[in-house]
Parts: sequence; C-alpha cells; structure tokens
Amino acid sequence: NQQLYTSTSREAAQLFQSDPEAFEIYHRGFAQQVGRWPENPVHRIIRYLRRRPASLVVADFGCGDCKIASSIKNKVHSFDLVPLSPLVTVCDMAKVPLAAESVDVAVFCLALMGTNLQEILEEANRVLKQGGTLMVAEMDSRFEGIRAFVNAMAQLG
Ligand code: SAH
Repeated sequence: NQQLYTSTSREAAQLFQSDPEAFEIYHRGFAQQVGRWPENPVHRIIRYLRRRPASLVVADFGCGDCKIASSIKNKVHSFDLVPLSPLVTVCDMAKVPLAAESVDVAVFCLALMGTNLQEILEEANRVLKQGGTLMVAEMDSRFEGIRAFVNAMAQLG
C-alpha cells in the first residue's frame, strides 16, 4: 500500500505487470483491513449513486473487485491495473480509454494513490461532463489539509 502511495501510477502498473502475485497479496491485505473499519466508503458511494438517476454514467478509477459496477444499474466503466473481475478494463488510471466529457460521475474510492495525482485528476476532469460529479474517498491521514486539497482540485477544474 505504501509503495503505491509513493510511486507514480506508471511505476505501479509496471510493478503489478511484472509481479501479479504482488497484486493478489495487496488485495487480500486491503480487503482484510477495510473489513475491520466501522464503514467501508465504497458502500456509502453505492448508497449515494442509488439515490441518483440510473441513467448517469459512472467511471470507477481503481475499482478493485468492482463493488460499484456489481451493485448499481448504471453504466459503470471500471478501471484497474489487474482484472480482479471480468468487469474490469485494465489500464493505468492516468490514461483511460474514454472520450472527453463522457461520464457523469467519476469515483476514486481509496484509489487516488499515484504521486502523479495531478495528472490523474486532470484525466478525470477530461472524461467528466460539464457539471459532473467527482467523488474521492481517502483516509484522513492522507491529507495535509482538506481545504488546501479542495482548493488545488478547484484549480484543476
Ligand atoms: N475502489 C476499490 C478498491 C480500492 S484499492 C474499493 O474501494 O473497494 C485501490 C485500487 O486502486 C487497487 O485495486 C489498485 O490496483 C488500484 N490502482 C492503484 N493504482 C492504479 C493505477 N495507476 N491505475 C489503475 N488502478 C490503480
């Protein structure tokens, strides 16, 4: 986990390509960890999406086992470095195979990991429609200051 948060998204892609077992170990650890939390943020995101129109197109960046795609009726584009599920499109989230302004909601649930996060957020901005929704769930400890983060996001559009 620490390695993913301290390398670029391209380095993470190379790591998992060269060592598929590393991905399995990482995911097992991730699922165990989140299982101990009082609430898994992905469930909160699913509850939110269920209250919104099923016509909205969603992009799930760093989808893991595709909990979102398998829990809602919407069209969901699920991106990850390794396919834990047949619903996954394998790619680096810094460059997803979607047209500009093609999605209504972009989600990063515990997945905004690469040090090139500016590039990753610019990619989300590229694929989001005007007035679309960006959802980010991260650990408190990952932020140096929420306000500074939100201001930087605003500057990215
Ligand atoms: N969003 C899921 C999984 C979170 S774990 C959930 O909440 O259950 C973080 C996920 O981000 C992992 O599956 C990891 O492989 C993926 N990830 C990390 N860096 C990535 C990158 N550069 N491109 C695509 N996926 C990435």
